[in-house]
Amino acid sequence: MKDNSNIKNRTGNKDLIKDINIYHCINAIRSHQLISRAEISKEIKLAQSTVTKIINPLVQSGLILEVGDGTSTGGRKPINLRFNNDYGFTISVKIEASRLIVALCNLAPAILSTTVIDFPLGIRYEDFKPLLLDAIREIDKERVYAIGITISGIVDDDSGRLVSSTLLGWSDIHLRDDLFDEFGINIYIENDVNAFAMYQFNSEFGRNHNSFICMTVGEGVGSGIVIDGKLYRGEFGGAGEIGHQILFPEGKQCYCGQKGCLEMYVNEDEVLHRIQRKIGKSVTYNQVFRENEVDKSIVDETMLEVYNYVGIAVINLIMQMNPQRIIIGVKKEVDTELLESYLRDTIHENWFYKKAKMETEICFTVLVNEKFVIGMAQIVTNEIVNNSILLGEFNSVFGD
Ligand SMILES: [Zn+2]
Repeated sequence: MKDNSNIKNRTGNKDLIKDINIYHCINAIRSHQLISRAEISKEIKLAQSTVTKIINPLVQSGLILEVGDGTSTGGRKPINLRFNNDYGFTISVKIEASRLIVALCNLAPAILSTTVIDFPLGIRYEDFKPLLLDAIREIDKERVYAIGITISGIVDDDSGRLVSSTLLGWSDIHLRDDLFDEFGINIYIENDVNAFAMYQFNSEFGRNHNSFICMTVGEGVGSGIVIDGKLYRGEFGGAGEIGHQILFPEGKQCYCGQKGCLEMYVNEDEVLHRIQRKIGKSVTYNQVFRENEVDKSIVDETMLEVYNYVGIAVINLIMQMNPQRIIIGVKKEVDTELLESYLRDTIHENWFYKKAKMETEICFTVLVNEKFVIGMAQIVTNEIVNNSILLGEFNSVFGD
């Protein structure tokens, strides 16, 4: 693995401007499949001679690749540039209630290999930690620049600490320190819904949308907020915890300590309880959604009852944040067509729609593990590209 501990700190205005120009160039290349030096110069409004001066050492180092001849508009044919996604690698980890997913990713980011490890529900962190460290140690790869870990719960970005995770029953876990002590490379910790939101930023739903909110509705309810292309984490890392907005002040007791939280009315257990009350016998998630043992009209009716509360949460989000789009992630068994039209009807009754014509779009996507893992790898890749971690080793080529 790559040891970045000796990276020289780049300080002072001259270095800073140089770094900003370098990563503007790199990001222009990353955001296009192919782009020429002249096109970069135009896009980031930097003299072509400066662009060339920045790009050439990056080409020599292999971070940027020159690819064939570009389309000529007369005169000398420009050479196209491409970001070398295999220049370096990251490890992206997703910690679930009883499963650990460890993936090696390139800088695209794409998953190159995955290890899945099951562990007992309710495991203590002390017993889990060796499993995590072993799984990462197993990855035998050069040029791994950073590790990203995504987990359900509140994460303190500054300290790299898991403040609390109800799903795992852990609190005050110093994940970043524990991993840094072992591997000595950059470690990033992120809430799982935020990682999912970051995946959406590059997906068909989030692309071309600078501000959107990604909701997940499954075992619990959460959201990730993207503003101006960046995750909004809040001052203490708790932004987007919409599952604990209070719907009924005297309502059901929530595990968070409050009463009447949205999550108490929208989670999977609630759906199953409602169905059980209607059919008079107990059923499992699999029996209802995978084995179709319950009449679909009863399932649909129940989902709409529950989505009535999701509708309230969506309206609240629109009123608070006024996003361009709300992307709702649900399990693949859920009938999204039914819910999409229901939610549209619900929010069309909303004041913002009727009076102000502020039409936030609603769309559904399926919750798949891969999206969380790639989203986390995306966060890590952005960090190492934009925060001089990749650039650190080019200090000598750029000189002072
Ligand atoms: Zn709560």
